[in-house]
Amino acid sequence: MPGRAQKTNTHIDRVKCVVNTCQYYENGDYCSAESIEIQPRNAKNTEDTDCATFAPKMNM
Ligand code: SF4
Repeated sequence: MPGRAQKTNTHIDRVKCVVNTCQYYENGDYCSAESIEIQPRNAKNTEDTDCATFAPKMNM
């Protein structure tokens, strides 16, 4: 499944992501997407929020 964002050769500074099943995940808990989008609007707590850019790794 293609992701919504371009995968880059670098990672986003100041973002730590531990979702190692995502195709943008890089060792060291980095995200290599060109940008990410977090949802939803009007979230009430930490559990409400998630990364809408997530896409499962192709080989899973
Ligand atoms: S796209 Fe989202 S879930 Fe995937 S590595 Fe980046 S921050 Fe994590």
